[in-house]
Amino acid sequence: MRRPVARSLAVLAVSAAVVSVGAAAPPSGAAPADPAPRKVPVAVGYGGAVASVDADASAAGIEILREGGNAVDAAVATAAALGVTEPYSNGIGGGGYFVHYDAKSRTVQTIDGRETAPLTADSGLFLENGQPIAFADAVTSGLSVGTPGTPATWQAALDSWGTKRLGTLLKPAERLARDGFTVDDTFRSQTASNETRFRNFPDTAKLFLPGGALPVVGSTFKNPDLARTYAELARKGVGALYRGKLAKEIVDTVNRPPVDPGSGYNARPGELSLKDLAAYRAKRQAPTKTSYRGLGVYSMAPSSSGGTTVGEALNILERTDLSKASEVRYLHRYIEASRIAFADRGRWVGDPVFEDVPAKELLSQSYADSRECLIKDDAVLTSPVAPGDPRHPAACASTGIAAPTTYEGENTTHLTVADKWGDVVSYTLTIEQTGGSGITVPGRGFLLNNELTDFSFAPASPAVHDPNLPGPGKRPRSSMSPTIVLDAHGRPVVALGSPGGASIITTVLQTLTGFLDRGLPLVDAIAAPRASQRNQTTTELEPALWNSQLRTGLEAIGHGFRLNPEIGAATGVQRLPNGKWLAAAETVRRGGGSAMVVRPAP
Ligand code: GLU
Repeated sequence: MRRPVARSLAVLAVSAAVVSVGAAAPPSGAAPADPAPRKVPVAVGYGGAVASVDADASAAGIEILREGGNAVDAAVATAAALGVTEPYSNGIGGGGYFVHYDAKSRTVQTIDGRETAPLTADSGLFLENGQPIAFADAVTSGLSVGTPGTPATWQAALDSWGTKRLGTLLKPAERLARDGFTVDDTFRSQTASNETRFRNFPDTAKLFLPGGALPVVGSTFKNPDLARTYAELARKGVGALYRGKLAKEIVDTVNRPPVDPGSGYNARPGELSLKDLAAYRAKRQAPTKTSYRGLGVYSMAPSSSGGTTVGEALNILERTDLSKASEVRYLHRYIEASRIAFADRGRWVGDPVFEDVPAKELLSQSYADSRECLIKDDAVLTSPVAPGDPRHPAACASTGIAAPTTYEGENTTHLTVADKWGDVVSYTLTIEQTGGSGITVPGRGFLLNNELTDFSFAPASPAVHDPNLPGPGKRPRSSMSPTIVLDAHGRPVVALGSPGGASIITTVLQTLTGFLDRGLPLVDAIAAPRASQRNQTTTELEPALWNSQLRTGLEAIGHGFRLNPEIGAATGVQRLPNGKWLAAAETVRRGGGSAMVVRPAP
């Protein structure tokens, strides 16, 4: 989305010479030549870098870096701006995972800002008369709304590593919400796909269907309610969302969804309480660490399954020299490693407060070796593959009962930031589905999440323990995989992440191997056509792979495929010598992303 009015945000042109894949064309009908930042997928330079899906959001981060803020400050400003311009993917009604590299100590730490189930929830949260309710009914309901974690994440990150006050960092986003941004094709089409359910909630319709109609591409979209909410958080701190009037409004909205009685829609109430909100804590925790070809790959530990699943798959792939493999062999190994890692994810990963998650064992090389043994060069494993037992690795063993990967929503957002001191942030945040629960807190300008639909509604396999059933105060298992890779000296090499529900894991894995093993420039590794296998019978392929000879080559081994028009929307930063950074984003997906640096290199 582009902002139509003159503004003080840093505007960065990127020399065409560094655009190795070509800048995405502006969405058709988007604002004509305006002073808003150009949306380019790659930028190289000094003083720090920001990559996100949106030019206004990247510019908000750059503005903060330019004013002397560090990567954490800029990440918060970028995220807050994304809450304005990408309100269907993230916002203060949602949650996420924040991964931070501190250049001084050369260490990585993380914050788990996942939404939590109400303290009254139990494993029957989504059951009626003993049967799971329809997924879509759960999505658009109060039942699926978890206590938001994003505001607490921002404050926890600032308390730990930031240098500026939240109020300062919310300013660019507040301005964006008040003055507006220009509607693009993505925003309009995301609104259109939500139109029917948004109409069931008058407050949501009033906000996102101004004048009763879809926002017109090229028009200015303003959200003064959100501007006021940000201003209130700036004044009072994020505690205002967890205690007091706003907290009460959130609780009331969840427990009595403000549905249009004439719509006939049964918006099931949730059971969030003031106690839930007051008890919420974003958690500082150690990252997962995987050694891969002499590098350290750091990501999110449970409650996300991102770090353990990407890490296990990398360990499985480590035994193959992917740099020399043919494209078919590379993709075959990548698909099979993903399949196996997903089998283990389904069996072992859930909220560690409630489940005994063998995260360390899942990430051991000996366990990966015992699973790699299952992969054949001339045949394909049959999904669902059964999980192994990481506590007792045994060569080629699969134990337990296979369970397929269940559906997860596919929309969220990832931002990646580096500063001039060498600190890095890799941050993925979401409200789960595109448009979350569809329920807006009246007069507050933001949507509530439907994150609790990431729980299993019923055990994935009735005969085996499912670590992802709902529980009181429990965090649903995520796939978010914000990742930072360090070299042997503990210096950053690359940081990246993506949206895409469970396909986040495969997108991060494929992009990492594309960059680290296949020698692709970061922007090309991000742009490369994607495949996603999640322990299912068929593997999803984007059109460019679907229509290629590679598909035939893989089918000859026994692979089956289904088409997915678009998987993920990644962003990343890469450290170059002498304080230089490269920021990279999508060239085409979701209308192209936005890479910026503070001082472009000549
Ligand atoms: N709810 C998903 C997760 O936590 C993210 C949704 C998405 O990426 O679209 O893994």
